[in-house]
Amino acid sequence: MYDLLIQHVDVLQIANGAPTILPRHDLAITDRRISAIAPAISPGLAREVIDGEGHLAIPGLINSHAHTAMSLFRGVAEDVPIEEWFNRFIWPLETNLTPEDVYWGTLLGLAEMIEAGVTCVADHYFATDAIAQAVQESGMRALLAWTLFSGADEDTQLNSARRFTEQWHGTAGDRIRVWMGPHSPYTCTPSFLSRIARTARELGVGIHIHLAETAGQVSQSIATYGRSPVMVAYDAGLFAGPALAAHVAHVSPEDIAVLATHGVAVAVTPKTEMKLGIGVAPVTTMRAAGVTVALGSDGAASNNTYDVLESARLLALLEKLRTGDARVMPIGTVLELATVAGAQALHWEGIGVLQPGARADLALIQYATAHTQPVHDPAAALLYSSQPADVRTVIVDGRVLMRDRVLLTIDKPRVLREVVARIERLTQYQLDKRIAVYPEARTDA
Ligand SMILES: [Zn+2]
Repeated sequence: MYDLLIQHVDVLQIANGAPTILPRHDLAITDRRISAIAPAISPGLAREVIDGEGHLAIPGLINSHAHTAMSLFRGVAEDVPIEEWFNRFIWPLETNLTPEDVYWGTLLGLAEMIEAGVTCVADHYFATDAIAQAVQESGMRALLAWTLFSGADEDTQLNSARRFTEQWHGTAGDRIRVWMGPHSPYTCTPSFLSRIARTARELGVGIHIHLAETAGQVSQSIATYGRSPVMVAYDAGLFAGPALAAHVAHVSPEDIAVLATHGVAVAVTPKTEMKLGIGVAPVTTMRAAGVTVALGSDGAASNNTYDVLESARLLALLEKLRTGDARVMPIGTVLELATVAGAQALHWEGIGVLQPGARADLALIQYATAHTQPVHDPAAALLYSSQPADVRTVIVDGRVLMRDRVLLTIDKPRVLREVVARIERLTQYQLDKRIAVYPEARTDA
């Protein structure tokens, strides 16, 4: 007996950068996993049936780098360089956040992700107990990290992150996993990074960090430590286990070799990187060197949306423009970054694919829209024409989280009310209080 059967749906499979469509197939789910994909499965064998006619079933998209609760600060810091973005806006404003704010902001971001076909997120933030609570209730899948900064309270932070990891890693039926989250080499000292790396190894978890976002960070790192940010992270032992580095826009051939040798995955967030004017990772070069590259959204305060297909589309366009070659980043490759490579980057087996045995994380995208018809190529329609509103139904771990555009696990009207009620307090500036300090911009960048 199947728990759920999706009938008459086109099924997108991606292998080795090539998309394949299984036309008008049935997809069965049993015990939270995909149990069968075949041209015709008897609906009498299923407890529940969804008619997928006119839809494309895709592996749930994986957002490999986000600060979900920053949905609360969407649009507060526009058209400013990164040091102003941090020092004048984000880090002062974040001192206003309570765990309850983070909870509602996370639910808002998760609602947006589910509505955009995202089924798993690698989140990096604070008040992570509130985030885990929101993830648990929403039914989403998440790899959480408690953002750590150097400062007077390093012991307290590290102990809190350890306690959080021990409490939440592998919970919610293994929908929630936890890694350690040093913010970056420009906000954490090498000795603190080393302590975090040791703690991660003791706990048997990975590391999620920001690396080499700007040319200025690289020159500052070399001036201070004689090493690039990638090498500072490597020296601190952060690459001894699973590691996920966000942005990594400014790297040398030596840096790329170290990332490849140690299996460090890179999460690029092209919209944020373009908006802040900081540069985007040389994705084609990194992939050729053997680095796993995945796609993220970063926080909504820089990216404005949690739409992973938008990130995918932007990255494909950027790489074609950068290389002057329309053949780079073909559709299958860029869709792979948002699915299969995301699973590899998060070291999460059994997601990012639609095949028997995989976790049942998927989205159904409708074809019947003016902006996608006629559909000569379903994968092209998905990447280059679809909009988040075309995502009709989303399933995570076999559970339907959205059906026909209705969220079933998140009370969206209540979330919107809670968020709006907080905005006035959250946007009070107290310039003497900041979460951290972004180093002064260097002119030699
Ligand atoms: Zn980030």
